[in-house]
Amino acid sequence: MAQGKMNLNLSDMIYACATDSVKWFPQAQSPAFMALAMAGEVGEVCNLIKKVERGSKTLDEVKMLVSEEMVDVLIYLINMMGLPEFRDVNWESIWNEKRDFNQARFGEQDKHDFHVHNPYGDSERPY
Ligand SMILES: [Mg+2]
Repeated sequence: MAQGKMNLNLSDMIYACATDSVKWFPQAQSPAFMALAMAGEVGEVCNLIKKVERGSKTLDEVKMLVSEEMVDVLIYLINMMGLPEFRDVNWESIWNEKRDFNQARFGEQDKHDFHVHNPYGDSERPY
């Protein structure tokens, strides 16, 4: 699996997904549709992981498929975030509030000191 630097930001992703979705599926632009579609994609991720858990596949065998389904989940989540009903939401603010809440709940870690808690060790940040 190729690993490169991501040059995506949430605002651009929301704009791209919303533009594509309205163009391709103008009849399916509701929170209910996006939530159901996202749940369907979560199910696809879970079905593949289920096969790994029961031993019929290895994670290596399904890693690319799981990754693609994870992106499908992300696309529907982002589509939902871009719906007119949610356009006034400040996602960055909520993100920061959630991080602060989780930091207070789970530990006094410095969220800005990524390298101290970097699960990738001392290697460079992967994304
Ligand atoms: Mg899918």
